[in-house]
Amino acid sequence: MIKRTPMLAGNWKMHGTVSESVALVEDLLARVGDVADREVLVAPPFTSLHAVAERLEGTRVRLAGQNMHWEDKGAFTGEVSAPMLRAVGCTHVILGHSERRQFFGETDTSVAHKVRAALRHGLTAIVCVGEQLAEREESRTLAVIDSQIRGALEGLAPGDFAHLLIAYEPVWAIGTGKVATCDQAEEVHRTIRDIVAELAGASVAEGVRILYGGSVKPDNIDALMREPDVDGALVGGASLKGEDFARIVRFQA
Ligand code: PEP
Repeated sequence: MIKRTPMLAGNWKMHGTVSESVALVEDLLARVGDVADREVLVAPPFTSLHAVAERLEGTRVRLAGQNMHWEDKGAFTGEVSAPMLRAVGCTHVILGHSERRQFFGETDTSVAHKVRAALRHGLTAIVCVGEQLAEREESRTLAVIDSQIRGALEGLAPGDFAHLLIAYEPVWAIGTGKVATCDQAEEVHRTIRDIVAELAGASVAEGVRILYGGSVKPDNIDALMREPDVDGALVGGASLKGEDFARIVRFQA
């Protein structure tokens, strides 16, 4: 059986000036700079990437952008590109976050373009999927996830999946304090792994890491991480508090 290294990722969203971001990352490094058996990543706002990258130099904590455009450069006011993220020190980029889909018109098609651009430039893509509350109540969760995964990833070569993580983030659980139950998370994660097996083969699917996101906190991370197909977490609110995120990073499954 393939052992998947857990990934604990903090999405800072639109929180933090440069100095606030530096203070947060320094606090985090003091708390978890030494962890060795799991990966830790932070995704600060674009304006803080450079300063945070400087603090992360020589550490094991990785840096991600929260979004990017699929073109390398051009007349796209307000956007940043994969080469720009690479140049500032990012190794990863979050794509298709539900807030991008909900507030900024992101679609499976745009996510698919972005995934390909990220891979082309050597960035690891963290591709977010998740159902709305109404879709869950109408028992359409698995169908929605199926279409989002295929929409974003269909046609990729099996080797591309080594540079991809998938984050299952039920929209009704993001920032609401309502976490999915372990059974709900595991059911969707298992389904995602099965879809990846169809797209890229069983051994690729065994290796791909699937993160859970949606109100992950110090008091629910341990139980979530006990699920066989939960390989880590994408954390919003709790990643803004060094103590809370450090406890999440130091989960005990
Ligand atoms: C997120 O932003 O991806 C997220 C899961 O947020 P929160 O942890 O605050 O629900």
